[in-house]
Formats: sequence, structure tokens, C-alpha cells
Amino acid sequence: MKYRLFFIFTVLYFILPMMNILFAYAAVGCMVFPFILLRLNNRKSWCSGICPRANFLSGIRFLSIGIKAPAWLVGKKMRRNLLFYFGLNLLFVTMSTIMVSIGRVDPVDKIRLLIVFQLHFGLPQAFPMETLPGAVVHLAYRFYSIMLTSTLIGIILAVLFKPRTWCTICPINSISSRMLERVN
Ligand code: SF4
Repeated sequence: MKYRLFFIFTVLYFILPMMNILFAYAAVGCMVFPFILLRLNNRKSWCSGICPRANFLSGIRFLSIGIKAPAWLVGKKMRRNLLFYFGLNLLFVTMSTIMVSIGRVDPVDKIRLLIVFQLHFGLPQAFPMETLPGAVVHLAYRFYSIMLTSTLIGIILAVLFKPRTWCTICPINSISSRMLERVN
């Protein structure tokens, strides 16, 4: 409850990169803090209230139709598939950034949804930095794309089913559960 206003960080995450794409690197925090807290507290502190996305999804509960989510959508298999997709995504991001940094391919300063669906426009840059290396811009757009894709899926699930349906299949949750299983 006390972290309810953290939903603002989710909103800011999608707005600030329109000022400068470097703000997209804040995504790293969402991928690292959950595990740091888990290591410190031996529990899913991030998922238990801090996570800005969860607070955002809870905040749009008034849009929720509230249909019962089908078992296949929130089941073990889907969690595994999504974890695999997340790992694949990170692999593509790493490989493509390396390729850009060694000059093999051009940086992609566009958003891609679900890895493959590229939008034909980049983000407006109110405060552009012309001297940014291509690989830095490329990686920032990849982080933004990952965050946008997963947030859009989370919103669709929140509207159709319960607000935090995304959390049942979220890769961060799946990894956290596995880490806890190993510790306990
Ligand atoms: S499961 Fe994912 S979206 Fe839900 S609270 Fe945890 S990190 Fe956030």
C-alpha cells in the first residue's frame, strides 16, 4: 500500500526517454533490484509491493473486465515459455549490441515489439545528444522495446482478466521463485 504511488515510475519510464533515450537504461533497475532485494531479504520484496509496474497495473483496475484467466495462460508452461522468450530477447539484445559496437551492423534507433515488429519511427528527443555512440543508442532502444512490449501485454491482461494477471507469468517472478527454491 505504501508504494502505491510508485506507479509514477512506470509512467515516467515511458515519457522520459522522449526527452533523452538514455533514460531507457532505467530498465536495468527493474531487472536487477528484484534480485538484490531477494538476496538481502530472502523474500520477493520487490513483487510484494515495490514494483512500479505492478502498482501501475493495480492502478488501472477500474478498466478491468475481470474475466477468469484460462489455465493455459497462467500455467507453468506459459511461465516457462515466457522465461525462454525473455532469455532469447536478452540474448538478441546482447548480440546485436555487440555487432553494432564492432561496426558490423547499423544501430536500430526504433522500437520493436515482441522482438520482430519494428515501428517505423523512433522516439522524439527533446534533449538529443548527437555524440552518443551508436551501440549506446541501440541498447537503450532495445531496453525501451522490452519494457514497452511487456507493459502492453500486462495492460491487455489487466483489462481482460485481473489487474495483476501479468505477475503470474512475469519472468522476474519466475526467476525469483527459482532462486528462492534453491535457497530454501
Ligand atoms: S511479477 Fe513482475 S510485474 Fe509483478 S510485481 Fe514482480 S516484477 Fe513486478
